[in-house]
Order: sequence, then C-alpha cells, then structure tokens
Amino acid sequence: MSSTNLNISLDSYKSPNFPTWCAGCGDWGIWASIKNSLVEQQIAPHEILFVYDIGCSGNMTSFVNAYGFHGLHGRAIPLAEGAAMANHKLPILVVGGDGGLYGEGMGHFIAACRANHNITVIVHNNMVYGLTTGQVSPTAAKGQKGKSTPQGVVDQSVNPIALAILSGATFVARGFAGDQKHLQELITRGMRHKGFSLIDVFQPCVTFNKVNTYAWFREKVKKIDDTVGAGAKQPLQGAHDPGDKKSALEKAMSGDPLWTGVFYESDEPSYEQQLPQLEKETLVEKSIEKVDIGDLVKEFR
Ligand code: SF4
Repeated sequence: MSSTNLNISLDSYKSPNFPTWCAGCGDWGIWASIKNSLVEQQIAPHEILFVYDIGCSGNMTSFVNAYGFHGLHGRAIPLAEGAAMANHKLPILVVGGDGGLYGEGMGHFIAACRANHNITVIVHNNMVYGLTTGQVSPTAAKGQKGKSTPQGVVDQSVNPIALAILSGATFVARGFAGDQKHLQELITRGMRHKGFSLIDVFQPCVTFNKVNTYAWFREKVKKIDDTVGAGAKQPLQGAHDPGDKKSALEKAMSGDPLWTGVFYESDEPSYEQQLPQLEKETLVEKSIEKVDIGDLVKEFR
C-alpha cells in the first residue's frame, strides 16, 4: 500500500481550507489521526479515495487534500463499495457520522458487513446530528433528552460494534477522538486489513451533546489488550483475543467500561477476492475495446 514516492508528510494532505468545526470538536482529533495514519503508511493523496457522508464529519471533504466523493446522506458506503469493485487495489476510506451510517444508511452498513468489501469505514459517533443542530441519533441512549426528544429517547440505541460483528464484518474496532495515537493505530490496522473494517469513534460534539462529553468518555473508556494469542488465558480485565467472537460480543455489550481497541478480526477473503474475474486485474485495468456486447444487446431487441 506504500507510495512509490516515499516522502509523504502531513503537508501532502494539507488543504487550502481550514476546518470550520467548532473549537474542541472531536472531529479535529479524528482528522489528525487519519492524516497521521496515511503518513505512517506513506500513502500519497492521489493513491487513496475518501468517500464522505453528509454531516459535520463529511465536511472533511474540504479539509483534506486527496481525492474525495461527497455522497448523499447515508449513502457513502455503497459508493465506496462501487469504487472497490472497480478498483480493489485502491485504499478506500469512508468518513461519516452515526446519524448517516447507522441511521439513514443502516441497511447499507449491514450489507457491507455481510459482503466484506475491502473498504475502511470510520464513523464519527457523537450520538447527535450535529450539522442540523443536535437532534438525537440512533446511538443516543434510551431516555436521553435532546431538542428532538424533550421527554427522552423512546427507541433502544443501536450498538454498532455488536451489530457489525453479528453482520459478518471481519475487522471491528472502536477508538476515541481524545486518544489520537491509539486511534491512528486502529486506522492503520483497519486499512491494512483485507476486507470490511469498521472503526467506530467516540467523538464528543461539544456544542450539542452535553451528556457524552470528553470527561464522560474519559471516565468510561478502557483499552482492550488484544496482544494475547488464541487460546491464551485471559487473566487481565482488558485482555482479549480478537479471534474470539463470543468474547468480542461480550466486550461490545459492556456499558461500563466502554471498551476501545480491536474487538474482532478474522482472516476471511474479501468480496473482491472471491470473484474469479477480478483475480488477474481490476475492472479499471481491463481493456473495454475487446468486449463484444452484441449478444447481450440482442436480448433486448
Ligand atoms: Fe463538532 Fe458538534 Fe460542532 Fe458539528 S456541531 S462541528 S459535531 S462540535
């Protein structure tokens, strides 16, 4: 995945547009972690595709100097899947929020987990719709009060980690915008994984979410230690074998502590690896001059 030009720096990703996010927003930390991961991997801006969803997170499209596609609300994942089908050698990062990807786009999210397309999805999870000024999102806790739910949320909240694991995702992790170094490590691991990778990120919205604040998260988050091998005894509270789905689900269901790190990882072929027609070359590398679609067209006459 490394660039032929091994001189990629943070300046390589510098956009002429300075971010418009609120001071202290968790988006800043995620933005920094993504760019640091790309520098660590020595991926050049022309060698990666970003697909952005709508929301404060999606506004990152203007703040990163790289190829980006800004999709409709909740539709970033299928756009990324299409790009992966066309060029499965291209690193593809989806950047979106919990509202778009776990709400409007939940069907697409589950389908992508099942299909195991080779894309990395980074979700800015702040429990609100920040861009539209703070309505509660699908990850808000039941009972949480907000401007759209003055008497508290009636619905059960979505658990994206458990949902991804049960839907077949092959790399499932969670980071915290207040721990940029750890988040950078997770993004790098997720991008190196062949197949669908989810990195859900606790991202405080300092303007519209006065419940899930940095202090609230700092009190609850705890890192998973996934350095134990398969079958090893797990004497420490954070020790976890990411190949153990049952243990991953137990960690995912925990409300306190809220675990961060890699919950689940499995080495299964990606969607693209299972298609024999993509074995030799990507679709974009195939010559279309030699394709005769005459017989196909006859069927419609
Ligand atoms: Fe960040 Fe919330 Fe401000 Fe949006 S509204 S930029 S999510 S703090």
